[in-house]
Amino acid sequence: LQHEGEKLISTHCCYCGMQCGMHIRLDEKTNKVVGVEPRYDWPVTLGKLCPKGVTAYQTIDHDERITKPLIKKNGQFVEATWEEALDLIEKNFKKLQKEHGKDALSVFGGVSMTNEKCYLVGKYARAVLGTRYVDYNGRFCMSSAAGGFMQTLGTDRGSTLPWPELEHTDCFFMAGSNTAECHPTSIQWLWKARDKGAKMIVADPRETPTARIADVHLDLRPGTDDTLASGMLHLLIKEGYVDEAYVNERCNNYEELKQAVEGFTPEFTSKITGIAVEKIVKAAHIFGRSPRSVVMFARGIEQQSKGVDNVRLYTSMALLRGQIGKFASGVATFTGQANGQGGREHGQKADALPGYRKISDPEAVKYVSSVWGIDPAEMPRAGVSAYEMFDEIEEGRIRGMHVMCSNPAVSAPNLQHIWNGFNKLDFLVVSDFFMSETAEFADVILPVTSWAEDEGTTTNLEGRVIRIRKVKDPIGESKTDWQIMKVIAERMDKGHLFNYNNPREIFDEFRLASKGGKADYYGITYERIDQEDGVFWPCPSEDHPGTPTMFKEKFGTPDGKAILPIVNYRDSGEVPDEEYPLYLTTGRVVFHFLSGSQTRRTEFLMQQCPVPYAEMHPALASQYGLVNGGKVKLMTRRSEMELEVRLTKAIREDTVFVPYHWGKELAVNVLTNPALDPVSRMPEFKVCSVKMKKA
Ligand code: SF4
Repeated sequence: LQHEGEKLISTHCCYCGMQCGMHIRLDEKTNKVVGVEPRYDWPVTLGKLCPKGVTAYQTIDHDERITKPLIKKNGQFVEATWEEALDLIEKNFKKLQKEHGKDALSVFGGVSMTNEKCYLVGKYARAVLGTRYVDYNGRFCMSSAAGGFMQTLGTDRGSTLPWPELEHTDCFFMAGSNTAECHPTSIQWLWKARDKGAKMIVADPRETPTARIADVHLDLRPGTDDTLASGMLHLLIKEGYVDEAYVNERCNNYEELKQAVEGFTPEFTSKITGIAVEKIVKAAHIFGRSPRSVVMFARGIEQQSKGVDNVRLYTSMALLRGQIGKFASGVATFTGQANGQGGREHGQKADALPGYRKISDPEAVKYVSSVWGIDPAEMPRAGVSAYEMFDEIEEGRIRGMHVMCSNPAVSAPNLQHIWNGFNKLDFLVVSDFFMSETAEFADVILPVTSWAEDEGTTTNLEGRVIRIRKVKDPIGESKTDWQIMKVIAERMDKGHLFNYNNPREIFDEFRLASKGGKADYYGITYERIDQEDGVFWPCPSEDHPGTPTMFKEKFGTPDGKAILPIVNYRDSGEVPDEEYPLYLTTGRVVFHFLSGSQTRRTEFLMQQCPVPYAEMHPALASQYGLVNGGKVKLMTRRSEMELEVRLTKAIREDTVFVPYHWGKELAVNVLTNPALDPVSRMPEFKVCSVKMKKA
């Protein structure tokens, strides 16, 4: 709908991995963004937007935008020129590296940036600063899915099928995904399929809005997904639902898997998970009898110290049914951020180089070094994961940090450790457009553009590469993240490595850097994205059609066969005991996005959900004398906090749920457990033990 005196610019929402299509409305007289219109022609979301997407434009010209560099003096931020801010950064970065070595500096990136910026973060850390310490907030988001897919399928792309095919799916097995709240515009595909008779099975400790519409709700104890998935595999095998021809031809380890899940009878599975036997059996029959099924999951199963095992086991359900690589079937994870893939295949992750190459592979180092124009000997070795960077700060090995597009002072687990780390740093630079909780710790804050003030590409949850368009010029003196990395590169005497004039030049270099890797973007150009409404990676050449459906003929493993997992049962990092008798789990609400630094500044969203709360069953609350709206003190081995009680029967009686979008005294992550998955190094946000009392 074109309004008089306004321009409509076609782009995508800045928040979650759905990347809903929208037009931004720009008032031509005032040059202010005044609203959005949905894009009905965008094939993935067909004009749907959630409350966050409808209001996302309000952050662009927001009063609280940081518009000038800020330098902390005597504990207070004062405005500075870019020259002053960059002088200070150059002086401190050089001093720290001279005194403590290159690895004294570190970079903490983010996945809400464009592909171009995600790619540059890895290059900036390794080729400009020369440090091994680079990681990003995707570690808290997608890393277990990445590890699980790589180990099982040999290539990690978020979805093996394009979203519009979901309409033709017969059964959805959804584990640890509250899709209706976290990726609301996906639900339309599920409804379309439901209208044609599709079934839904939802595994979640809470009866979320997604679980409420399921045919079977598997209300498992937090942290028992591996057992539930093993129990499902057991039944698929025992009941004769395995596609033997597919498994024999396309999978390794079938006999070993059979043995591994032999003991996971419905009775044993029920004992561990707390789910009724009948529900487990019913779910297996529905899933096993469906001709086309998709296994979908999200942070609920991934943010665990068993996250990779969970992903591998649930993915195996799709493999045993012979579903991966076929129409309207497969496996998918819901990526949390705008560019949910933007770290793994771009080289922002501690051990990854562009194209999903490994930094431990000498050939990969040689190739990427040649694209970057550096000596391979200069390439640092692998660093450590996001949470572990704060251990390195504690040990005095990391002395300075540059945080971009991320707010770990809210989103990391065991927050006191993170806050101590920020306080201990000799020098902290934060690029942000709002005064986030992380920015408050900074010595220098650099004002960065919002998503509407720059152009580039992102990769949505399907693996489709799409265009983000510039709507207006940057507010105040803000610069884009790539411009900021460029000016710092110049100050660090590495300007020749960052000789870019626009995002297209960066994208073209990234295409080349990814060429020949598992995540090959080489054939994707801005022109093709415009003409084809996005292009799916891998796409190795300009005449390649892209890959909407993954693994049609073979998997990404050396022999082309999927690797079924052999998993031994183990407990979560913490399980309830006498002292801490309950489970604590955390998650999202529809009105807020991640650490909330944008959505907490959006009036409508704050009206809907102004503060976090402790959600619990009335039967549990009554044991503690708690009432709806009263106050409860939650205590874990890390910390304690007070919250308002919210009673609902839509949660297990042994579990307390708290949403995590708030900082400081409202930050539930002071309580969460940093137990890490041994492969993905994902912290266990979704399971810890807690005790409580009336406050
Ligand atoms: Fe779409 Fe996600 Fe934005 Fe909501 S937050 S409008 S679902 S991209």
